[in-house]
Amino acid sequence: MTKPVFDRVALIGLGLIASSMFWAIKRGGLAGEVTGYARSQATRDTACEIGLCDRVCDTVADAVEGADLVVLCVPVGAMGSVAAEMAASLKSGAIISDVGSVKRAVIDAVQPHLPEDVHFVPAHPLAGTEHSGPESGFAELYDNRWCIIVPAYKDTSPEAVAKLRALWEGMGANVDQMDADHHDLVLAVTSHAPHLIAYTMVGVADDLRRVTDSEVIKYSAAGFRDFTRIAASDPTMWRDVFLNNKDATLEILGRFTEELFALQRAIRTGDGDHLFDYFTHTRAIRRGIIEAGQDTEAPDFGRGAPKS
Ligand code: NAP
Repeated sequence: MTKPVFDRVALIGLGLIASSMFWAIKRGGLAGEVTGYARSQATRDTACEIGLCDRVCDTVADAVEGADLVVLCVPVGAMGSVAAEMAASLKSGAIISDVGSVKRAVIDAVQPHLPEDVHFVPAHPLAGTEHSGPESGFAELYDNRWCIIVPAYKDTSPEAVAKLRALWEGMGANVDQMDADHHDLVLAVTSHAPHLIAYTMVGVADDLRRVTDSEVIKYSAAGFRDFTRIAASDPTMWRDVFLNNKDATLEILGRFTEELFALQRAIRTGDGDHLFDYFTHTRAIRRGIIEAGQDTEAPDFGRGAPKS
C-alpha cells in the first residue's frame, strides 16, 4: 500500500462521485481516514450500511473538522450554501476542493465563504454514469479518465495543487489543469450541449405518442438507446449545470443550430457530397477518441457496469 496522500479527507455529499472517490481512495490507500456527510438521514443510513466512509457524520461541521482535504460533491447549485455551512469548522491550512461540472459559477459561489487560511483548489473529474446516489459508486470510475484541476487564483499554493493532483492520480485519473472559463467552454462542447441534445431527442420521440409505447422502445437502435441513457442522468445535477454554464452552453447551441441548418439544407437539396464529407470528418473524430484511450469500440461505450 502506498503512503496516504492525506491524513483525513472529508467527502460532502455522498452520491455517485463521492462514493466512487471513497472506493478509489480505499483501493489506493490514499487517506488515513475518510469522513462523509450527506444532508438526508436516508443517505447517511445507506452509507453506514454499505461501509461508505470510515465515519459518517450527522453534520457537515463534524465531517470537515480536522480534515486536510474537504471535497464538495453536491450539485453545482448547492455548493455555495454548503460552503457557508462548513466554513467556520475548517482546519487552518486545509485544501478545499469540489467536483462540480461547472467551474466559474462554483468558484464565485464558494470562494466568498472560505476563510483566508485555507487553499481552494476546484476540480472536475470527467467521469460518470447515469446512476446516482450512495450505492452507485465503484472504485474504477476514474481509471484512465481525465480530472481537470482549476486553481481558483493565480497564486494558488503549488503544494496544494500537487497534493490534489497526487490524490486524483492515485484514484486512477489523468490530471490536467486549465482556467475556469476555458474549462466551462470545453465542457459545454463535450458534455453539456450533448446532454441537452439527448434530452431533446428523447423528448421528441416521446412527443410522437403513437410510437412511444411500442416501436421506440422495441426498435431502439444504438443511437436512440444511447440518447435515452444520457437522458436518464440526474435531473437536479443537469438543471444546475445548464443554469450555471449558461453563456458557454448557449454559444455552443448557437453553433450547433447553424450546423444543423446546413445539414438540413444538404438533405433538402440532395447534396450527398456535403453529407458524405461531413460524416467522414466526424468518423475520424470518433477514431481519435478511441486511439486516445478515452473510449472503446465496445457497445457499452467502455463505461463498464456499475458495482451492484
Ligand atoms: P448524486 O449521486 O445525485 O449525489 C448528490 C449528493 O449531493 C447527495 O448526497 C445529495 O444528498 C447531496 N445534495 C443534493 N442536493 C443538495 C443540496 N441542495 N444541499 C446539500 N446536499 C445536496 O450526484 P453526483 O452524480 O455524485 O454529482 C455530484 C457533483 O459531481 C455535482 O456537482 C456534479 O455536477 C458533479 N459531477 C457529476 C458527474 C456525473 O456524471 N454524475 C460527473 C462529474 C462531476 P442526499 O443524498 O441526502 O439527497
